Parts: sequence; structure tokens; C-alpha cells
Amino acid sequence: MRRNTTQRKAIEEVFRQHERPLGVDDILAYGRKLVESLNQATVYRNLKILIDDGWLIRITHPSLGVLYERTGKGHHHHFHCRECNRAFELPGCALKEKESAPDGFVVEDHEVFLFGVCPSCVGVTK
Ligand SMILES: [Zn+2]
Ligand SMILES: [Zn+2]
Repeated sequence: MRRNTTQRKAIEEVFRQHERPLGVDDILAYGRKLVESLNQATVYRNLKILIDDGWLIRITHPSLGVLYERTGKGHHHHFHCRECNRAFELPGCALKEKESAPDGFVVEDHEVFLFGVCPSCVGVTK
């Protein structure tokens, strides 16, 4: 039996409620609404367990740093909203890897981040 099952369940629930990549601060803020005793150390410990279990992966966002997202979604890209500072998952991939690099480069993988304004921030006047 692993300890901290309640905390881990809460973190899993946070990812079910928010279908987008989340940073530790987001996970902590949303998770505390479910389990008040959650703290940064327990979040980090449980994130590690969930990564080891293959339930979460770590992605490195160019401006937000390390984010966590659910596995099993296949290859996809991300969108960053400059208004609310949230990352979103975009469906599918339109990039032609082989045509994107000059001859002689062997492309093995890629990450694409699009930047702009998300639907809930469009129309919000600042
Ligand atoms: Zn937004
Ligand atoms: Zn792609």
C-alpha cells in the first residue's frame, strides 16, 4: 500500500477537471479545493509517482517552465494564451517534419507551441 492515496486521488481529479497542461502552482491551487492539507512537497512527491506510473508526463513550456499533462493523448501541440497565461492542448499535427529541416538533418521529434489569445480571453478588454 502506498501512502498519500487521498492526495494522489485529488491530483488525478485536478487533471480530469482541467484538460490542459498544468504547472505545480495550478495543481496545488486546484488540489487544495479538494484536499485542504495538500502542500507543495506532497504535490511533488505524488507527481513523481504518477510520472513513474506512466499516468503523467512532464513537458517544458518555453515561458511557463515545467508543466504536467496526462499521457495517452498521442502527439499534439500546445497553445499558450498571453492573457491568462494558461497552456492548452491542440489536436493533431500539421507539421511536415522531413520538409522542415534542410538535407542532412535527421529529425527525430519536435515540439510546437503556438502563442496568442484563448477563446475565453478573446473579447476581454484590458
Ligand atoms: Zn486566455
Ligand atoms: Zn507535431
